[in-house]
Amino acid sequence: MFIADYLETSLLDWEGKIACLLFLSGCNFRCPWCQNKELALGIIKNSIPIQEILAKFENKKNWIDGFVITGGEPTINRDLGKIISEIKNNGFLVKLDTNGSNPTVIKELIDNKLVDSVAMDIKSSLTEEKYNNACGINVDLTAIKKTVEILLSSSIDCFFRTTVVPGIVDEDDILKIAEMVKGKKYRMQKFVPHNTLDENYIHIKPYSEQDMKKMEEICYAKVF
Ligand code: SF4
Repeated sequence: MFIADYLETSLLDWEGKIACLLFLSGCNFRCPWCQNKELALGIIKNSIPIQEILAKFENKKNWIDGFVITGGEPTINRDLGKIISEIKNNGFLVKLDTNGSNPTVIKELIDNKLVDSVAMDIKSSLTEEKYNNACGINVDLTAIKKTVEILLSSSIDCFFRTTVVPGIVDEDDILKIAEMVKGKKYRMQKFVPHNTLDENYIHIKPYSEQDMKKMEEICYAKVF
């Protein structure tokens, strides 16, 4: 039950909560614009036992609300269930970040009440061409749609988010995604061209603040 890296406290990764951020190494996608290159490729080979991290909070449990488990893609880690159980046994809440490729794992975690919140990345419109381009592999779209369905019908806190990368996501994609996840929280985040998995993406000019605001406004006007 090892963690690749962690950040003791974060105010940004779980809305309204202070959380310890745990990074699990390795990902089954190869998004060319990914800004977590080392984690996605599994290059970070630290192995910190989860018990060692939990021990830091033993006498200061009220410092944080819970743990955010992110990656890479946490659901490909065989020890994910055990790591979460260990955290839960210590009385903390758990939020999971996922690319949505493993609906069975997500459903099991929800059914067994092992997660309190799930954030799923939607990389682009759900067509093969768009999604494969966004993820750098041939994606099983049926699995992605299944995870979306599971989260939409679940009563746990969940939200969807899209990194808005020029050439991968446009206004039309945002509208389609927003329509699909209507009723749940949806966030757009700006692409930052830094340390990208495909080095060509370092030269991609991100959308301006104005472009982002316009997309958000269109989204609110037409969908929410
Ligand atoms: S952005 Fe893509 S490649 Fe990077 S960690 Fe997330 S799913 Fe994996």
